[in-house]
Formats: sequence, structure tokens, C-alpha cells
Amino acid sequence: VSDTVNLKKRHKICVKGFDVPEPLGTFAELKASHPKILKSVLQKISDNEITAPTPIQMQCIPLLMDKRCILSCAPTGSGKTLCFILPVLSHIKKSEKGSFRALVLSPTRELAKQTYGEFKKFGGSRKFSYHFLSKASANSDILTKDCGNKDVLIATPMHLLRMLKEDRIDLSKLQFCILDEADRLFDSQFKDDVTQILEFIDLVKVTVGLFSATLANGIDEWCFSNLDNFVQVYIGTVNG
Ligand code: ADP
Ligand code: MG
Repeated sequence: VSDTVNLKKRHKICVKGFDVPEPLGTFAELKASHPKILKSVLQKISDNEITAPTPIQMQCIPLLMDKRCILSCAPTGSGKTLCFILPVLSHIKKSEKGSFRALVLSPTRELAKQTYGEFKKFGGSRKFSYHFLSKASANSDILTKDCGNKDVLIATPMHLLRMLKEDRIDLSKLQFCILDEADRLFDSQFKDDVTQILEFIDLVKVTVGLFSATLANGIDEWCFSNLDNFVQVYIGTVNG
């Protein structure tokens, strides 16, 4: 217990919530604590010379491995992307046809593209099927129900909402919904679209992870009204 307390103190990890798993000391610990963890992703992490988890990764990876909903706040550049890539791919386990198992929503095309690149880098480009929802793919039939493998969908709000409204994309087997840069997704430009998208998703069955650098735009209020037993994770000093 005191090791856990020290790890949290030393890395300024602040958590609010019930039954929160212990933070990770090293990526290797996951092999024992979470046998489901995908060894191939751990291998890619070490191939990319990433040796130790960042504070946000220490706490968020075990939480998402346990399928807990999280609101996670840490500065830009602190490694939030890997917090969800590793648990998402570990739970998807293998590529399948049909419905997407994970959705990552990003406020901009540039960020969505970056995240798509990170999935390929850490997940391997052949092992899983990642789709980047662009204007072109939204207008084609690549993403529609019956063709090809579909594992991870990375999208910006506008095109996704249109496809959902037209019933041209299947999210019925979704396991993870990640809102990346959630503070921006909840600002006035995107909030209406994002709220409508979330109405297509069964938030009781899906693990929701919100990642953000700030607590702006009432994201915490949204979590309190919509997520059951979620955990808040903050890195650094928190005001209030
Ligand atoms: P954020 O989303 O928090 O702004 P990113 O996920 O984009 O941060 O990560 C920023 C950079 O840090 C990326 O180049 C990523 O590969 C790298 N990175 C991720 N995790 C670690 C780690 N544990 N140690 C060192 N570098 C890391
Ligand atoms: Mg990020």
C-alpha cells in the first residue's frame, strides 16, 4: 500500500472514484496484473524506446484495462494517446468483420490523423483494421456495414454524425468510446454534434474514456450526468 501512495505522490497522480486499481510502476507489470494485455503492443512500445509509463499512463492504463470509465486530465505531450491504444487493442484482441469495437472521436482532422498514425505505429499496420473517417471515406462504401474488417474508427464529429443519421455505420458492438481532447469536443463548435453522436451509443455497455488537457466546457458535469461509477484522474496540481 505504501508503494502505491509513494508512486501517486511522486508523480502527482490525483484520483477521485471508487475501487481504483493501483498505478503501474512499469509496463512489464501489466503482464502479471492484466494477462489480457497484448504483448505485441508492449513490444512496439519498447521498440520505440519508451521505457517507463508517464504518470497519466500509470493510472489510466490499469483503469481502462478494467473497463472503467474515466475522465482524465493531463498536460499536452504527456502521452495520453497510449493510455487508450494499449487497453483498446488488448480488449479487441483480434481483427473482425462487422461492427467497430472502438471509436476515437477527435475535434480536428489533423488530430484524428495523428491518432490514426499512432494506432498503426503501436498496434501494427496489419494486425488490426483502423479506419480514419474522412469526407472521402464517408461518401464511399468502405465503412458501410458488410465490407471488410472493422476494428477501430477514428473520426471527427461532423462526418460521423452524418453517417450515423444515414444508418451507414455500425456501432452496435462498440466496447470503447474515447473522446480525445474532450474539452474541445465540448466547446460550442462541436458540442451539438458530439451530444447527438453519443445518443447513438449505449453508454451503459461501453467503456467511455475522456482525455483532456483542461476541465473546460463542463466535461466533468457531463460525466456526472452520463457515466456510472467513473473515475477522475488528474496529473499535477488541481484547482478547486
Ligand atoms: P498528449 O496526447 O498527452 O498530448 P501524446 O500521446 O501525443 O501526448 O504523446 C506525446 C509524445 O510522447 C508522443 O511522441 C509519444 O510517442 C510519446 N510518449 C508516449 N508515451 C511515452 C512514454 N511513456 N515515455 C516517453 N515518451 C512517450
Ligand atoms: Mg493527445
